[in-house]
Amino acid sequence: MQLYTKQIQIKNRFFNVDVYDFPKRNSSATIKGDTINIRLSSRISRKLQNAHAENLLKRMIKSLEKKDPPKKKIWMDGDIIDVCEKKYVLQIHEENRKTGTVGMPRWGIPTVPLTIKIPKNLSNSKKQILIFNLIRKILAQENQIYLQNLVSEINHKYFNFKYGKIEWKNFKSRFGHCTSKNDIAICSRLLFVPKELLEYVIIHELAHIKIKNHSQKFWDLVKKVCPEHKKRRKLLRNSGS
Ligand SMILES: [Zn+2]
Repeated sequence: MQLYTKQIQIKNRFFNVDVYDFPKRNSSATIKGDTINIRLSSRISRKLQNAHAENLLKRMIKSLEKKDPPKKKIWMDGDIIDVCEKKYVLQIHEENRKTGTVGMPRWGIPTVPLTIKIPKNLSNSKKQILIFNLIRKILAQENQIYLQNLVSEINHKYFNFKYGKIEWKNFKSRFGHCTSKNDIAICSRLLFVPKELLEYVIIHELAHIKIKNHSQKFWDLVKKVCPEHKKRRKLLRNSGS
């Protein structure tokens, strides 16, 4: 039987804590994804159950703090987002609604308000995912030209290749892509990483115009214009993007 549920924050992640009582001699705690399940022995007093719950949760938090270094940013109302050399101020409205929307004014002001409306009856972790997806979608739309200029600048500096379309795309797991027609797409998660990491991904995709695989020849080409490519790749993987 479920006794209660609550939500806690460990570092910058949210976890659901579901507490059950269970016809067993011992109490135990397990974690699956973002949910911590605490099973309390139903053979002990309520007072002892509370003590067990507190103890198990404390232990769980301790091990999660060790295991999970801070990675994901939590988006909050009033956040200033620095993207593509512009500043946006995040405005989050929680409303009685089914889906999320995002909007911004069309005129140029120094700090552009990004107004996000989200359903208020979502869990905190789902709210964060929704907010992030709305932000990256609109900022990718807004900054297509920024990306095109940056690719052109890097290409001019190092390669002088001919390429097709350049755009941000909302990839799930890849950083970039270069098609057989030499259209280049860059993952919109990279809007939020330091510029040198974005530049590395652009160099990588531009190098694919000449060499369409990841052979030694390809890496030699990348290394020639970006000697730090190994370090940047590592930083990218650790960026939480
Ligand atoms: Zn590649």
